[in-house]
Amino acid sequence: MSERRVRVRFAPSPTGPLHIGGVRTALYNFLFARQHGGDFILRIEDTDSQRFVPGAEEYIQEAFRWLNLNFDEGVGVGGKYGPYRQSERRDIYKKYVQQLIDNDKAYLAFDTPQELEAKRNEIANFQYDASTRGQMRNSLTLPKEEVERLISEGEQYVVRIKITPNEDVHVYDLIRGDVTYNSSVLDDKVLYKSADELPTYHLANIVDDHLMEISHVIRGEEWLPSAPLHVLLYRAFGWEESMPAFAHLPLLLKPEGNGKLSKRDGDKLGFPVFPLQWIDKDGNISSGYRESGYLPDAVNNFLALLGWNPGNDQEFMSMDEMIRLFDLSRCSKSGAKFDYKKGIWFNHQYIQAKPNEEIAEMFLSTLKEHGIEAPFEKVVTIVGLVKERTNFVKELWDASSFFFMAPDAYDEKTVKKRWKEDSAACMSELADVLANIDDFSAATQEAIVMDWIAAKEYHTGNIMNAFRLALVGEGKGPHMFDISAILGKKETLARLRKAVEMLK
Ligand code: GLU
Repeated sequence: MSERRVRVRFAPSPTGPLHIGGVRTALYNFLFARQHGGDFILRIEDTDSQRFVPGAEEYIQEAFRWLNLNFDEGVGVGGKYGPYRQSERRDIYKKYVQQLIDNDKAYLAFDTPQELEAKRNEIANFQYDASTRGQMRNSLTLPKEEVERLISEGEQYVVRIKITPNEDVHVYDLIRGDVTYNSSVLDDKVLYKSADELPTYHLANIVDDHLMEISHVIRGEEWLPSAPLHVLLYRAFGWEESMPAFAHLPLLLKPEGNGKLSKRDGDKLGFPVFPLQWIDKDGNISSGYRESGYLPDAVNNFLALLGWNPGNDQEFMSMDEMIRLFDLSRCSKSGAKFDYKKGIWFNHQYIQAKPNEEIAEMFLSTLKEHGIEAPFEKVVTIVGLVKERTNFVKELWDASSFFFMAPDAYDEKTVKKRWKEDSAACMSELADVLANIDDFSAATQEAIVMDWIAAKEYHTGNIMNAFRLALVGEGKGPHMFDISAILGKKETLARLRKAVEMLK
């Protein structure tokens, strides 16, 4: 058992945009696979044709490309266990459904929706199981010839698993330990529908995990209630030996209060719950982490810590570190609050940690939107000066637009507070001082200007405040002489003279 190759799968159903909880599930599978040198597989579970949403599969693939979580096998990649899209595996499932029927582990049920409804009205808490299946229209109660006649006449049926009541079913979970269920709580779940000739999720999921030699099933807690049925299916097929280990991840909870994180929480508090923007068929837009300006590395780091920790306080981790440190036994059983402010904090940290060139590259499109074309080297320098004040790449514009465009107005409050009686006179004097400097580097300017202030016995703060107002238009920005050095002598003098003119 111990030398079994690690093979894990992410198995989304293409029913809409992938929720951020699904992304976390995929990330944990990815970390686990990479740590063990195993395989990370993308399987699309699209057997529920009613819930199929066009574009969802493409969305899923694009999201993982963006996040750099690359699959080794699966839809879009290929591999020798394919096809990896369940809708392309009908014949495989048919064969295995038949095997269960032949071995008396499953049976055909012909009950119409009306008949089922009538039973539900007749018996409180009706459950299709050992206690009721004898009263229903199925291949266990009908004569063999009748069943054959119904099938040949094209009557629709479902195949149900035949659950033996009152048995202990153990689900061994790597996070939760041994979870025991009594089989009597389970109903004879539908495994297959003749109407669309497709299996249900449960059957397809187990058959595929077996055939694809999946070693570990790492998925959201919402699938835990299905796990005993899945264990019974492995038993029914005689595949207990190759049953994967289970790990059910904690739920993602609302940032405030209790309950499962929903899209509405995101809308209310202003954070995305999807990796990429999604536009539904009615044109409603749901925001995405990518479009909101998050860096993929920051998203991965943030998600990794929602339900897992490395055993100490370390938060900022590279992908390689996460791969090395990840440990299912350090995943929590209880839900993880979705602290989206932490996500913003991570994004801030990643912007600081990334090389300025990389951030500048991303900033170029924003600059373009504002009609700015600037030498790349200059953009890199500016990014380096202002990025500590930003959480998102797009915020770089507000923090730095004055480098690219002279102010056309001056912030009133700042003027009131910082433009003194003598500011105009001092600024035109300063312009003359600066005009005489040949080496316009920040250091040279600073030395000369400070000498001038000292000689004239001016108030440094007042001079600097007025200087800033003249160049920036308000009271913000990085070190003053860094600004004037980047603007260059000509532009600095022009802005000083314009301020003198406008503010008097
Ligand atoms: N298709 C299921 C989903 O949408 C897969 C659950 C599992 O991983 O077994 O999440």
